[in-house]
Amino acid sequence: MSELDELYQSLILDHNRAPRNFRELPTSSGHAEGRNPLCGDTFNVWVQVKDGVVTDVSFLGQGCAISKASASMMTTIIKGKTVSEVRGLFDRFHQMVTGRAPTAEDEKKEARNALGCLSAFAGVSAFPIRVKCATLAWHALMKAVETAADGMPADARS
Ligand code: ZN
Repeated sequence: MSELDELYQSLILDHNRAPRNFRELPTSSGHAEGRNPLCGDTFNVWVQVKDGVVTDVSFLGQGCAISKASASMMTTIIKGKTVSEVRGLFDRFHQMVTGRAPTAEDEKKEARNALGCLSAFAGVSAFPIRVKCATLAWHALMKAVETAADGMPADARS
């Protein structure tokens, strides 16, 4: 295993052991539940969206190490980002774990920079059954964000 792989693995183990933002938000503008019956992962995600920016996000639930670490890391990364930035990140993350990441060197580099520590889940693409684990919280997040965005004027949704 390379040094980077080891770093990524310890990052996943750490987030699984001590998940960040593992609570329910006292007030939230969007909420959604995600289930992965294949693995038994179930998570609830709450978001607070203000003026098109995710000001707070949290999750609760249980699941395998991949699903929990992915949810935890997601909450640390999207806080403070705009809804459209979050959508862009989800697209990149989804491409990475489904093995559809860009192959051109400059695009690869750009994707890595954008994803940051989320790159820890790149190895998931070799295990199709794990893809649902890694993306579960993200799907719930996008649902929660859409709920929150419904309350916003149309011009703030792009
Ligand atoms: Zn799982």
